[in-house]
Amino acid sequence: MVKGFAPVSRKSSLSNLQLCVPPTVDPGEIDRAARLLRAGRLVAFPTETVYGLGANALDAEAVARIYAVKGRPATSPLIVHVASIEMAQSLVANWPELAERLARRFWPGPLTLVLPKQREKQPAIPDIVTAGLPTVGLRMPAHPVALALIQAAGVPLAAPSANRFTELSPTTAEHVHRSLASEVDLILDGGPCTVGIESTVLSLAEPGPILLRPGGISRTELEEIIGPLDSAQDAPTGAHPSPGMHPRHYSPTTTLYMATNGRLPEEGPGIYLQYQHPPSRPDVILRQMPQSAAEYAAALYEVLHQADAGHYNWIAVDLPPHTPDWEAVHDRLRRAASNS
Ligand code: AMP
Ligand code: MG
Repeated sequence: MVKGFAPVSRKSSLSNLQLCVPPTVDPGEIDRAARLLRAGRLVAFPTETVYGLGANALDAEAVARIYAVKGRPATSPLIVHVASIEMAQSLVANWPELAERLARRFWPGPLTLVLPKQREKQPAIPDIVTAGLPTVGLRMPAHPVALALIQAAGVPLAAPSANRFTELSPTTAEHVHRSLASEVDLILDGGPCTVGIESTVLSLAEPGPILLRPGGISRTELEEIIGPLDSAQDAPTGAHPSPGMHPRHYSPTTTLYMATNGRLPEEGPGIYLQYQHPPSRPDVILRQMPQSAAEYAAALYEVLHQADAGHYNWIAVDLPPHTPDWEAVHDRLRRAASNS
């Protein structure tokens, strides 16, 4: 147990697995990581969503290294990770009542709030972190190692997923190692991520809240607190710029197809992610996927990583239900697929 941090435990639709993570990182490692971060270096660390590639969010040069290492376009803003509501408040121009309600309910957890940046005093979030936008995306992660690291560093951490741009997000330290071992200064291993897909991104920088990306907190859970919610695609074109929402993101290198009623591509060998329908042919590698949205999300990237490592010709996905709690899983499958 990292000193001072109780395991986080909360229930939600994409986390009816308890968000309870046994930290496997000793405090000495956290201190070493914190010193590296303060010296402008990069540290990969576990969160409940995916592993993050972290830098001091107040250090523009360190953040520039994140973009370089990932090959990430400068138009894609980074999420800033905080260890408390107070830290978040110090980075924004104002903290609306809605932010307070949402943070009290869902933090620590997989919800990123986008708010206008404060520019009046230091410390202020440099423009490179937010891709030049006047807003910043903030999140308090529900992972004891992540929280201990931010506290020990004493600064907010800018952290996108710890993979190269367009690669699959990492949900284990091993995934990070395979992708970025030569580029990062330290990888903290906190075990597999329990949520397993990226955070929900909600903008509070417009007159009404807008869902920019579905994720670990479902639309239904948000609407219970804030009422009906617009999505980015419902908003008028150009009115709500959210760079970084690249349509083909989160993709395995193996071609991924949405399979209808078990129908498979002609050329084998392939891997079939069964939800309910058995495959139309027996000569496939079959993976039975979990039946709940939370467990499916937690398993998805690991299964896709394994499919990539197995060098199959294709991955076919037997689609899960189209009910609201599956919105984030469908979003990731759509972005990963070549026939969506
Ligand atoms: P990730 O690549 O998982 O770290 O998520 C970063 C995503 O959060 C970006 O691609 C954007 O979609 C979103 N995001 C972060 N900061 C902002 C911001 N200031 N305004 C709008 N969207 C943001
Ligand atoms: Mg990413």
